[in-house]
Amino acid sequence: MTERDSVDAVIVGAGFSGLYQLYRLRELGLTTRVFEAGDGVGGTWYWNRYPGARCDIQSLSYSYSFSPELEQEWDWTEKYPTQPEVLRYLNHVAERFDLLPHITFSTRVVSAHWDDNARCWAVSTDSGESVTAQFVIMATGALSAPKLPEIPGIERFRGRTHHTARWGKDEVRFDGLRVAVIGTGSSGIQTIPLIAEQAADLTVFQRTANFSTPAGNRPLGPAEVAEMKSSYPAWRAAQRTSFSGVPAELPTQLALSVPEAEREATYEAGWAKGEIVSLVSCFADILFDPAANETAAEFARAKIRAVVDDPDVAEMLSPRSHPIGTKRPCLDTGYYETFNRPNVHLVDLRETPIVEFTNAGLRTTDAEYDFEAIVFATGFDAMTGALNAIDIRGRDDLALADEWHAGPRTYLGIAVAGFPNLFTITGPLSPSVLSNMVVSIEQHVEWVAECIAFMRAHGYSAIEPTAEAEAQWVQHVAELGALTLFPTADSWYTGANVPGKARVFLPYFGGVGTYRQTCDDVAAGGYQGFTLTPAGQPAPA
Ligand code: FAD
Ligand code: NAP
Repeated sequence: MTERDSVDAVIVGAGFSGLYQLYRLRELGLTTRVFEAGDGVGGTWYWNRYPGARCDIQSLSYSYSFSPELEQEWDWTEKYPTQPEVLRYLNHVAERFDLLPHITFSTRVVSAHWDDNARCWAVSTDSGESVTAQFVIMATGALSAPKLPEIPGIERFRGRTHHTARWGKDEVRFDGLRVAVIGTGSSGIQTIPLIAEQAADLTVFQRTANFSTPAGNRPLGPAEVAEMKSSYPAWRAAQRTSFSGVPAELPTQLALSVPEAEREATYEAGWAKGEIVSLVSCFADILFDPAANETAAEFARAKIRAVVDDPDVAEMLSPRSHPIGTKRPCLDTGYYETFNRPNVHLVDLRETPIVEFTNAGLRTTDAEYDFEAIVFATGFDAMTGALNAIDIRGRDDLALADEWHAGPRTYLGIAVAGFPNLFTITGPLSPSVLSNMVVSIEQHVEWVAECIAFMRAHGYSAIEPTAEAEAQWVQHVAELGALTLFPTADSWYTGANVPGKARVFLPYFGGVGTYRQTCDDVAAGGYQGFTLTPAGQPAPA
């Protein structure tokens, strides 16, 4: 067996999570291999190359904090960087820290089976490679398993098709074409204005109208970048203890406790900031009280009516089926304005659902449409999709996908009972997608590295949560979610976007700072809620 066949750790995925995990494990002296399905690093920023793709957390926050040198040498150019800029950054990180030699690209991990006798994982890939490893770290991404619409006949369509999350590397142009975009989540809302500028004719198929705020994107001046670079240490410390991974003062006032004029002025000020939390962070009760929420929702709808010329189109674009903030809010550049263009049309799929795709386009219950290109902006099987796509077997041949049939069960969103030495970076039931994800990624990666260092220092060969600790965590996360309006929405946060998926509110809503403290306390208490098996002893049944 060579060093490549048997390593200390396998990491699956080479996005923000996998790259940093590799860096930390290498620092510990572990032999580590990373497998990545794409042919380059970047994860989200490698795959989502659609026109208009960019970050919606400000660049100076959405970046690694682990290396002060990296912080100082990298110059972000925009408030919200484009996909190419974030991808350049991650390529720079991979090269700067000499990570590339440890990564096997264009290789998908298809299975990971725990061997209780050998106390290690057997990992197999789609290229036929098999590797054993004491630890497996799933850095597979919360939003990395794209989903197509569940509508018959996609294979019949003879024109071009593109999924926003599987965009090719070559430039895709739509000049002179009749184009359809299906989906109006963050990806659709970012790409529709740019496709509309090229296409002869664009039809947007909308199932659920979403709330979106103008991003107010702009170049960053050198003085602003210099100022941020000088305040990084304090800023990063504040990120770590914040609620969402972005330092911000939390509101204390209730929406209905202030006079209407003051409320509107507060929303105007929030709107002007151009952030995903522009409106939901204006008052303390927006995500808890339906009446408070409605004041923010109506403010947003009035903004849509003020921009969109045709009142019927404005009404179609006005979300009414979910409270604001309970589906991931969107940031845009010229989204609503796009519907004033003569070449852009909107079809409400709640009124007239798509029945099937045809050779030439698609058919709704109302009409047949011909297109030369269809863009699927139909999202992801979020949080569990990439994990369940791998045949993961724990002790006693337990299949993770079966264990999670009624919804994912984890302890702290980072480990699973019955699956020793397996860690899930930003896994389900952790803050993950409710936060600035880079902050949550760094926290998980560091926790995992420290856990492994602890095991090595104390002679443990396996770690696994107890079923009791896991059950309590699952209940705690569900109880926190139930205090909010999130579970009322048909969103990917609840798995409702994937037919047949268990309906569970998947992220932890207690805040990044509180969560970090909980994880730190668990570790400081000798990994409370985990069973640690000393090397040489049989694993607990
Ligand atoms: P990913 O970047 O998803 O990387 C996971 C990698 O694992 C992928 O490259 C995938 O190919 C690989 N992989 C998965 N399964 C396997 C397998 N079986 N074998 C081999 N390789 C595998 N978050 C924010 O906080 N702010 C933002 O502004 C923001 N913008 C986003 C924009 C888009 C378009 C999308 C889709 C997501 C955005 N997110 C944002 C969330 C984003 O996913 C995270 O911020 C972050 O990039 C996730 O990094 P990751 O390494 O955990 O996962
Ligand atoms: P999404 O938010 O899930 O949106 C998918 C869209 O496709 C929704 O409008 C959905 O309608 C529609 N859809 C799905 N299946 C359909 C079907 N069968 N028929 C008709 N319509 C269908 O996915 P996304 O836009 O790719 O974004 C996912 C997440 O990635 C975001 O929420 C965000 O966290 C992240 N992201 C961030 C940015 C950014 O700005 N930084 C950009 C892109 C993505 P329903 O709502 O009715 O399900």
